[in-house]
Amino acid sequence: MSDAAVPIRRMPRPSRCPICGKPSDARNRPFCSDRCRMVDLNRWFREGYAIPGAAAPEPQADGGNGEENA
Ligand SMILES: [Zn+2]
Repeated sequence: MSDAAVPIRRMPRPSRCPICGKPSDARNRPFCSDRCRMVDLNRWFREGYAIPGAAAPEPQADGGNGEENA
């Protein structure tokens, strides 16, 4: 038996930045830079917060008024 018929699936996988399409950086995978990462994060947050149809109650900090002007 020869195990020479093993399909080599070790492609370098050219992951690209989902934001701008540039080759992703090893440090900021899968993004190319910290900036793009933040962009994606912001977008994610926006979509998470602004859900059409679902009125999500905003987590208000309960504990009295924080603003105290004499
Ligand atoms: Zn990018």
